[in-house]
Amino acid sequence: MKTKVVNIQEDNIDMNILNEAGDVIKDGGLVAFPTETVYGLGANALDEEAVKKIFIAKGRPQDNPLIIHVADFNIDPYVKNIPEVAKKIMNKFWPGPITLIMEKSDLIPMTTSANLDTVGIRMPSNKIAAELIRASKTAIAAPSANISGRPSPTDVESCIEDLDGKVDYIIGGTKSEVGLESTIVDCTTNPICILRPGGITLEMLKTVDKDVYMDSSISSKPTKDFKPKAPGMKYRHYAPKAPVKIFKGEIEKTIAKINEMMLNYIENKMTVGIIATDETKEFYNNGIIKSLGSRDSLNDIAKNLFHVLRSFDSEDVDIILCEAFDEQGVGLAIMNRLNKSAGFNIIEV
Ligand code: AMP
Ligand code: MG
Repeated sequence: MKTKVVNIQEDNIDMNILNEAGDVIKDGGLVAFPTETVYGLGANALDEEAVKKIFIAKGRPQDNPLIIHVADFNIDPYVKNIPEVAKKIMNKFWPGPITLIMEKSDLIPMTTSANLDTVGIRMPSNKIAAELIRASKTAIAAPSANISGRPSPTDVESCIEDLDGKVDYIIGGTKSEVGLESTIVDCTTNPICILRPGGITLEMLKTVDKDVYMDSSISSKPTKDFKPKAPGMKYRHYAPKAPVKIFKGEIEKTIAKINEMMLNYIENKMTVGIIATDETKEFYNNGIIKSLGSRDSLNDIAKNLFHVLRSFDSEDVDIILCEAFDEQGVGLAIMNRLNKSAGFNIIEV
């Protein structure tokens, strides 16, 4: 398949392009597009055949449901009822990086929800995404625009790398502002439960439901008989080709331990990648060192994380050693993605 790639600017949107891409969606095709979380791979959420193409293009397991994206607050057609708490979350945080799980209506095909009776819905704030949804005149089912298992794309180059030749259209915009996938909150339970941490944090959600809690699978390695609430939780995710090890503890001890282990690897003729920060990068004197940004801005770290993880694939490293972050605010989402990319290979220092 020949993929059409077009770059547009969020502050000067060319509606001719978005109308054309909207028609592709309407006609059952696939369009990758920017959002503030990560780039999405979209199809008409109400068209079973179109949605099947997403699973094929990504190599995504069919029991991993898709999030549907809307540009309008009227979501009545897609859900059976809207709990009060969901209304509050929508009013406070939409458009933005948070997905709400609710009971689905019959309009949502079972392929979209992966045979669940619920559906995840989000309203992106990225203007290109919003205009594309409007132009398509439907809800757009869109997982991240990567091959399943790889770190999500946060820029158009990463999208092209994974999907060129597999989709009809790729729309490029600016780098994703948040850089991590949306927070997912289950609104069918009382209190509500966070299934995936993201840009809208636990602390922020406490202002809506003071009893909101994190699903136990978020911070610990799933056990053998683990039955995930969100099917996606059980799959290997965000993984570069090389294995990742996370080092957790005081920063001075972390640096010392990474340097010590690095010497070992180098003696064994291995190429080592290091994921550091602006404050620590000068203390490593070997290996391929990449900084995620300053520890003063967890938002910047989140924004750069997937790009840095993906970039090690072209460096041919044998192992990646990575510093940990405090699990506060967006730090919880950062550590959730890092822990998964490392398969919970964590070394306490
Ligand atoms: P991605 O599209 O790659 O961001 O992944 C979407 C995530 O949302 C997956 O982990 C899914 O399991 C989760 N998800 C989507 N819909 C539902 C749902 N109805 N119930 C629970 N989790 C969901
Ligand atoms: Mg994904």
